Amino acid sequence: MSSFLNEVRRRRTFAIISHPDAGKTTLTEKLLLFSGAIQIAGAVKGRKASRHATSDWMEIEKQRGISVASSVMQMLYRDHVINLLDTPGHKDFSEDTYRVLTAVDSALMVIDAANGVEAQTRRLIEVCRQRDTPIITFVNKMDREVRDPLDILDEVERELGMPCVPMTWPVGQGKLFGGIINLRTQAMTVFDSGSERLPQDFETHPLTEQAKLAERFGLEWAAAMESMELATGASPKFDKEAFLAGKQTPVFFGSGVNNFGVMEVLDALVDLAPSPRPRLSHLVVNKQAIEKTIQPEDEGFAGVVFKVQANMDANHRDRIAFVRVASGKFTPGMKLKVQRTAKELRPTSVVTFMSQRREAVEEAYAGDIIGFTTHGGVQLGDTITDGQALQFTGLPFFAPELFMTVILKNPLRTKQLQQGLDQLGEEGAIQVFKPEAGGAMLLGAVGQLQFEVVQHRLKAEYDCDVKLESCQYTGARWITADTPAELGEFTYAYPQRMALDAANTLAYLCTSPYDVRLAQERFPKIHFHPLREHA
Ligand code: GDP
Repeated sequence: MSSFLNEVRRRRTFAIISHPDAGKTTLTEKLLLFSGAIQIAGAVKGRKASRHATSDWMEIEKQRGISVASSVMQMLYRDHVINLLDTPGHKDFSEDTYRVLTAVDSALMVIDAANGVEAQTRRLIEVCRQRDTPIITFVNKMDREVRDPLDILDEVERELGMPCVPMTWPVGQGKLFGGIINLRTQAMTVFDSGSERLPQDFETHPLTEQAKLAERFGLEWAAAMESMELATGASPKFDKEAFLAGKQTPVFFGSGVNNFGVMEVLDALVDLAPSPRPRLSHLVVNKQAIEKTIQPEDEGFAGVVFKVQANMDANHRDRIAFVRVASGKFTPGMKLKVQRTAKELRPTSVVTFMSQRREAVEEAYAGDIIGFTTHGGVQLGDTITDGQALQFTGLPFFAPELFMTVILKNPLRTKQLQQGLDQLGEEGAIQVFKPEAGGAMLLGAVGQLQFEVVQHRLKAEYDCDVKLESCQYTGARWITADTPAELGEFTYAYPQRMALDAANTLAYLCTSPYDVRLAQERFPKIHFHPLREHA
């Protein structure tokens, strides 16, 4: 295999998803620890803390104990490059999470064994299902008094709408948690609590020592044998093709905080999770968009911006555009073009995200996430290439359901407000709508907290004190028509309802669900889109 092809094949890019408190941060840290990316436990939490200290607006995050920003970490394990993308757990930032999920090839779902599949996980599952993203399931906190593993499997199956295939099986739980049986190696790893232990330190016994294990774990052993038989009898065999097609999920049990059952997950990422997959794009030929699938091993460099974040240092107006490499190879100094504007991209730096720090990128391949530091000129959904004219599709923007009008307290700061809203809009922190008829700018959000973050950031980063006032709008639809004349008629009929978003896409603002229906009846040729995909 050529070394280029090998670089692509050895990459794994996945998102870690869960309901808050299920143990995502803990598991992330242990994965980093066991891959050797970090040396001491507690480092991930430490990273969170220092981020708070250096950035003012992250204060909000600290106060609320939620993770506003999602982050990226790269690790090397068994000669594989693993890119882990964290997702914000709070539902108000779900848009951000959806976009992160467009940048990965698989997902690791963490479930609290006491709570089963919780609300926020459910929403994330939906997005994975839509995209047929393969999901690996980790059932965490087996050291606690939790639910019966058969119940949990049953619930995961129902929620995911696909069969679970247990890869490990727990013996006991809570105070009587004895360990896990690895169904592939047919051996039991014995549980021991503590966060210092390395995976190889756990005692392991082959199942051929059945009699000894039965004696040692007594009733727990007998119960585990029975439930394991039921579970494996009822579930299909692990089928890699089915897993990759998002049609079954391998399930692992363990306790993240005790380093237990984690190595099995790390190995699964290497052995089971897919290498970078092809991505759909549009190619513009003679002003006609034609679909083209970009293969990760295609030679030309291409990537898509799935996240834009203000740099943590509020004194610098620069921003980091997070790019998922889709094909080719990135090397420093290479000429890049933003397809939307056809302008050259001249980043001040290009970084890769190691667990603890950012480093200058030396090379990057499909699956990798690289960060371009810029002073603007890049938006969410932008396609960046070495010159080839193509535009990736599929980065979703959802029609907001909450709207607020922005009132600037000091009118002399209008220019700064405009700049702030432009930038926050481009970042996707909030959706900004400019009414065609003039008047105050409108902010649209999916979650209430987004407004608070934006208000806070406008003050902290742009010195703009704003008041947010409620308004009559309850929804928006992006508008397209087959001919300019049809579009013209429509906008003429609803001059007060038309607005442009941050990407200058025309939207129709509604005050009730009936609005859309009525407008649609009146103008059957107009298309109303609840979702905008960057194109
Ligand atoms: P996140 O919100 O999903 O990132 O969850 P965290 O990783 O911050 O964990 C939430 C809480 O659960 C923390 O207090 C952890 O120490 C605890 N926790 C995580 N994993 C386990 C586990 O396996 N067993 C027990 N008993 N507690 C855990």
